[in-house]
Amino acid sequence: MSDHYDVIVIGAGPAGYSCAIRAAQLGLSTACVDKWQDGEGKSSLGGTCLNAGCIPSKALLESSELFELAGSEFASHGIQVGQLSLDLATMQKRKAGIVSELTGGIGGLFKANGVAWLAGEAEVQGTGRVHFEPSNGEATDLTADNIVIAAGSEPTKLDIAPLDGDRVLDSRGALEMTEVPDRLGVIGAGYIGVELGSVWSRLGADVTLLEALDDFMPIADRGVANEGLKQFKSQGLDIQLGARVTSVDVGSSEVEVTYQSGNETKSQTFDRIVIAVGRRPHTANLLADSAQITLDDRGFIDVSDDFRTSLPGVYAVGDVIGSPMLAHKGMEEGVAAAEQLTGQLPHVSYRTIPSVVYTEPEMAWVGDSEADLKAGGIAYRSGQIPFAANGRAKALGNQAGFVKILAHAETDEVLGAHMIGPNVSELVQEIVVAMEYRAASEDIARIVHGHPTLGETVHEAALAVDDRPIHFPPPKKRG
Ligand code: NAD
Repeated sequence: MSDHYDVIVIGAGPAGYSCAIRAAQLGLSTACVDKWQDGEGKSSLGGTCLNAGCIPSKALLESSELFELAGSEFASHGIQVGQLSLDLATMQKRKAGIVSELTGGIGGLFKANGVAWLAGEAEVQGTGRVHFEPSNGEATDLTADNIVIAAGSEPTKLDIAPLDGDRVLDSRGALEMTEVPDRLGVIGAGYIGVELGSVWSRLGADVTLLEALDDFMPIADRGVANEGLKQFKSQGLDIQLGARVTSVDVGSSEVEVTYQSGNETKSQTFDRIVIAVGRRPHTANLLADSAQITLDDRGFIDVSDDFRTSLPGVYAVGDVIGSPMLAHKGMEEGVAAAEQLTGQLPHVSYRTIPSVVYTEPEMAWVGDSEADLKAGGIAYRSGQIPFAANGRAKALGNQAGFVKILAHAETDEVLGAHMIGPNVSELVQEIVVAMEYRAASEDIARIVHGHPTLGETVHEAALAVDDRPIHFPPPKKRG
């Protein structure tokens, strides 16, 4: 191990590993430090996303969805499955296999690109100085021309409900359960709450989500959020809005949760609860006092537009600098920071970062919402088409939801899109490309879309901006 590198990246989640790989591609001698250990104490690359977030949750969402479909939908396709039963151990093993393949894959990419993987904990001590405590071996001091902090985030804790790894879990624990609880309480109905709540509900748990806010998913378009709420409730998720949890009483076999609902105090008993009330920057033991790196009032590392912290030669990217706390935003920032170190002038398009909630139906959006446009006084036209008007969605047996496209009233430039329905996580990407090229809704309307595909709903929504959809009556003719 060399003691000096051109760049040391701290954190090997999506932001950090992307930064390290790009820096090495650009010819910089690069080390990436990460302290993550899996359940068996083995060092692992990929951070929360690969080890305990995006990837394992998507594996369980997929498996649980198939289980649910086998029980509820297969018969309508003429497929009889007999007595359905759940083998959770195999489901968890499959998930673990996917995680291990992907985290191992990052190791392979590091090797192929010449990134030195340093397994252990790093502390920034000053410009160019990092103290490194390896997972195995003696502590050492490293130096670098530049340091990029990509230390990520961790679940926000609730003081009233300390995690115990058994009855009170965070999102990581909720992905590892080895049996399906009869009654699962989830505190917070944000991204994690609805995704993990869906997984365990499909596998047979009675799931209640307690959400402090009165509005469901305020971050989403109101039409998307309202349709989502309707769909999730019809699937059996009990979503209580305006329910601020005030105390949690953990017994030996159950947990009693008390919450404020309007003027009423209510309580509910669960076998297990999951705390999903947000994530906070992961800066504990990361910055020595000598490092003088400024944090904002919420504890995120303060950076300039080009990712510089208050300490010369130290940059920060990803969740640790703030929202949106999304892996793909972190990856772009990581790559941009690496390119900047070699004198390039990279740019991250924050305006076109897509958001996706991997429920069933999925929810996805990009750009401005109607509320944003109204607040900004921007005149717009909107085209909305339901998946019920799409042949492929019907064939899939999955026709809930819609695509809505918003375009400038005068220039017709696409300003945003909001979707709920089958595979909208993929469909939203067409709008991202369109917005990057500053396309008009007319451009999308004139692009050939394969038939029969779900993407035709995007096409029709673009036509609907101009009140001329082919497979759905235009507004004035709907009667
Ligand atoms: P979130 O901010 O999306 O939702 C947390 C919810 O908890 C909020 O709605 C909040 O009002 C509620 N809450 C807070 N305190 C409460 C209390 N005492 N009682 C009841 N409700 C309370 O956070 P999350 O779901 O924990 O996700 C964390 C981050 O991880 C998000 O910022 C998201 O960017 C990221 N994430 C993204 C995805 C995805 O892209 N699909 C999936 C999972 C996580």
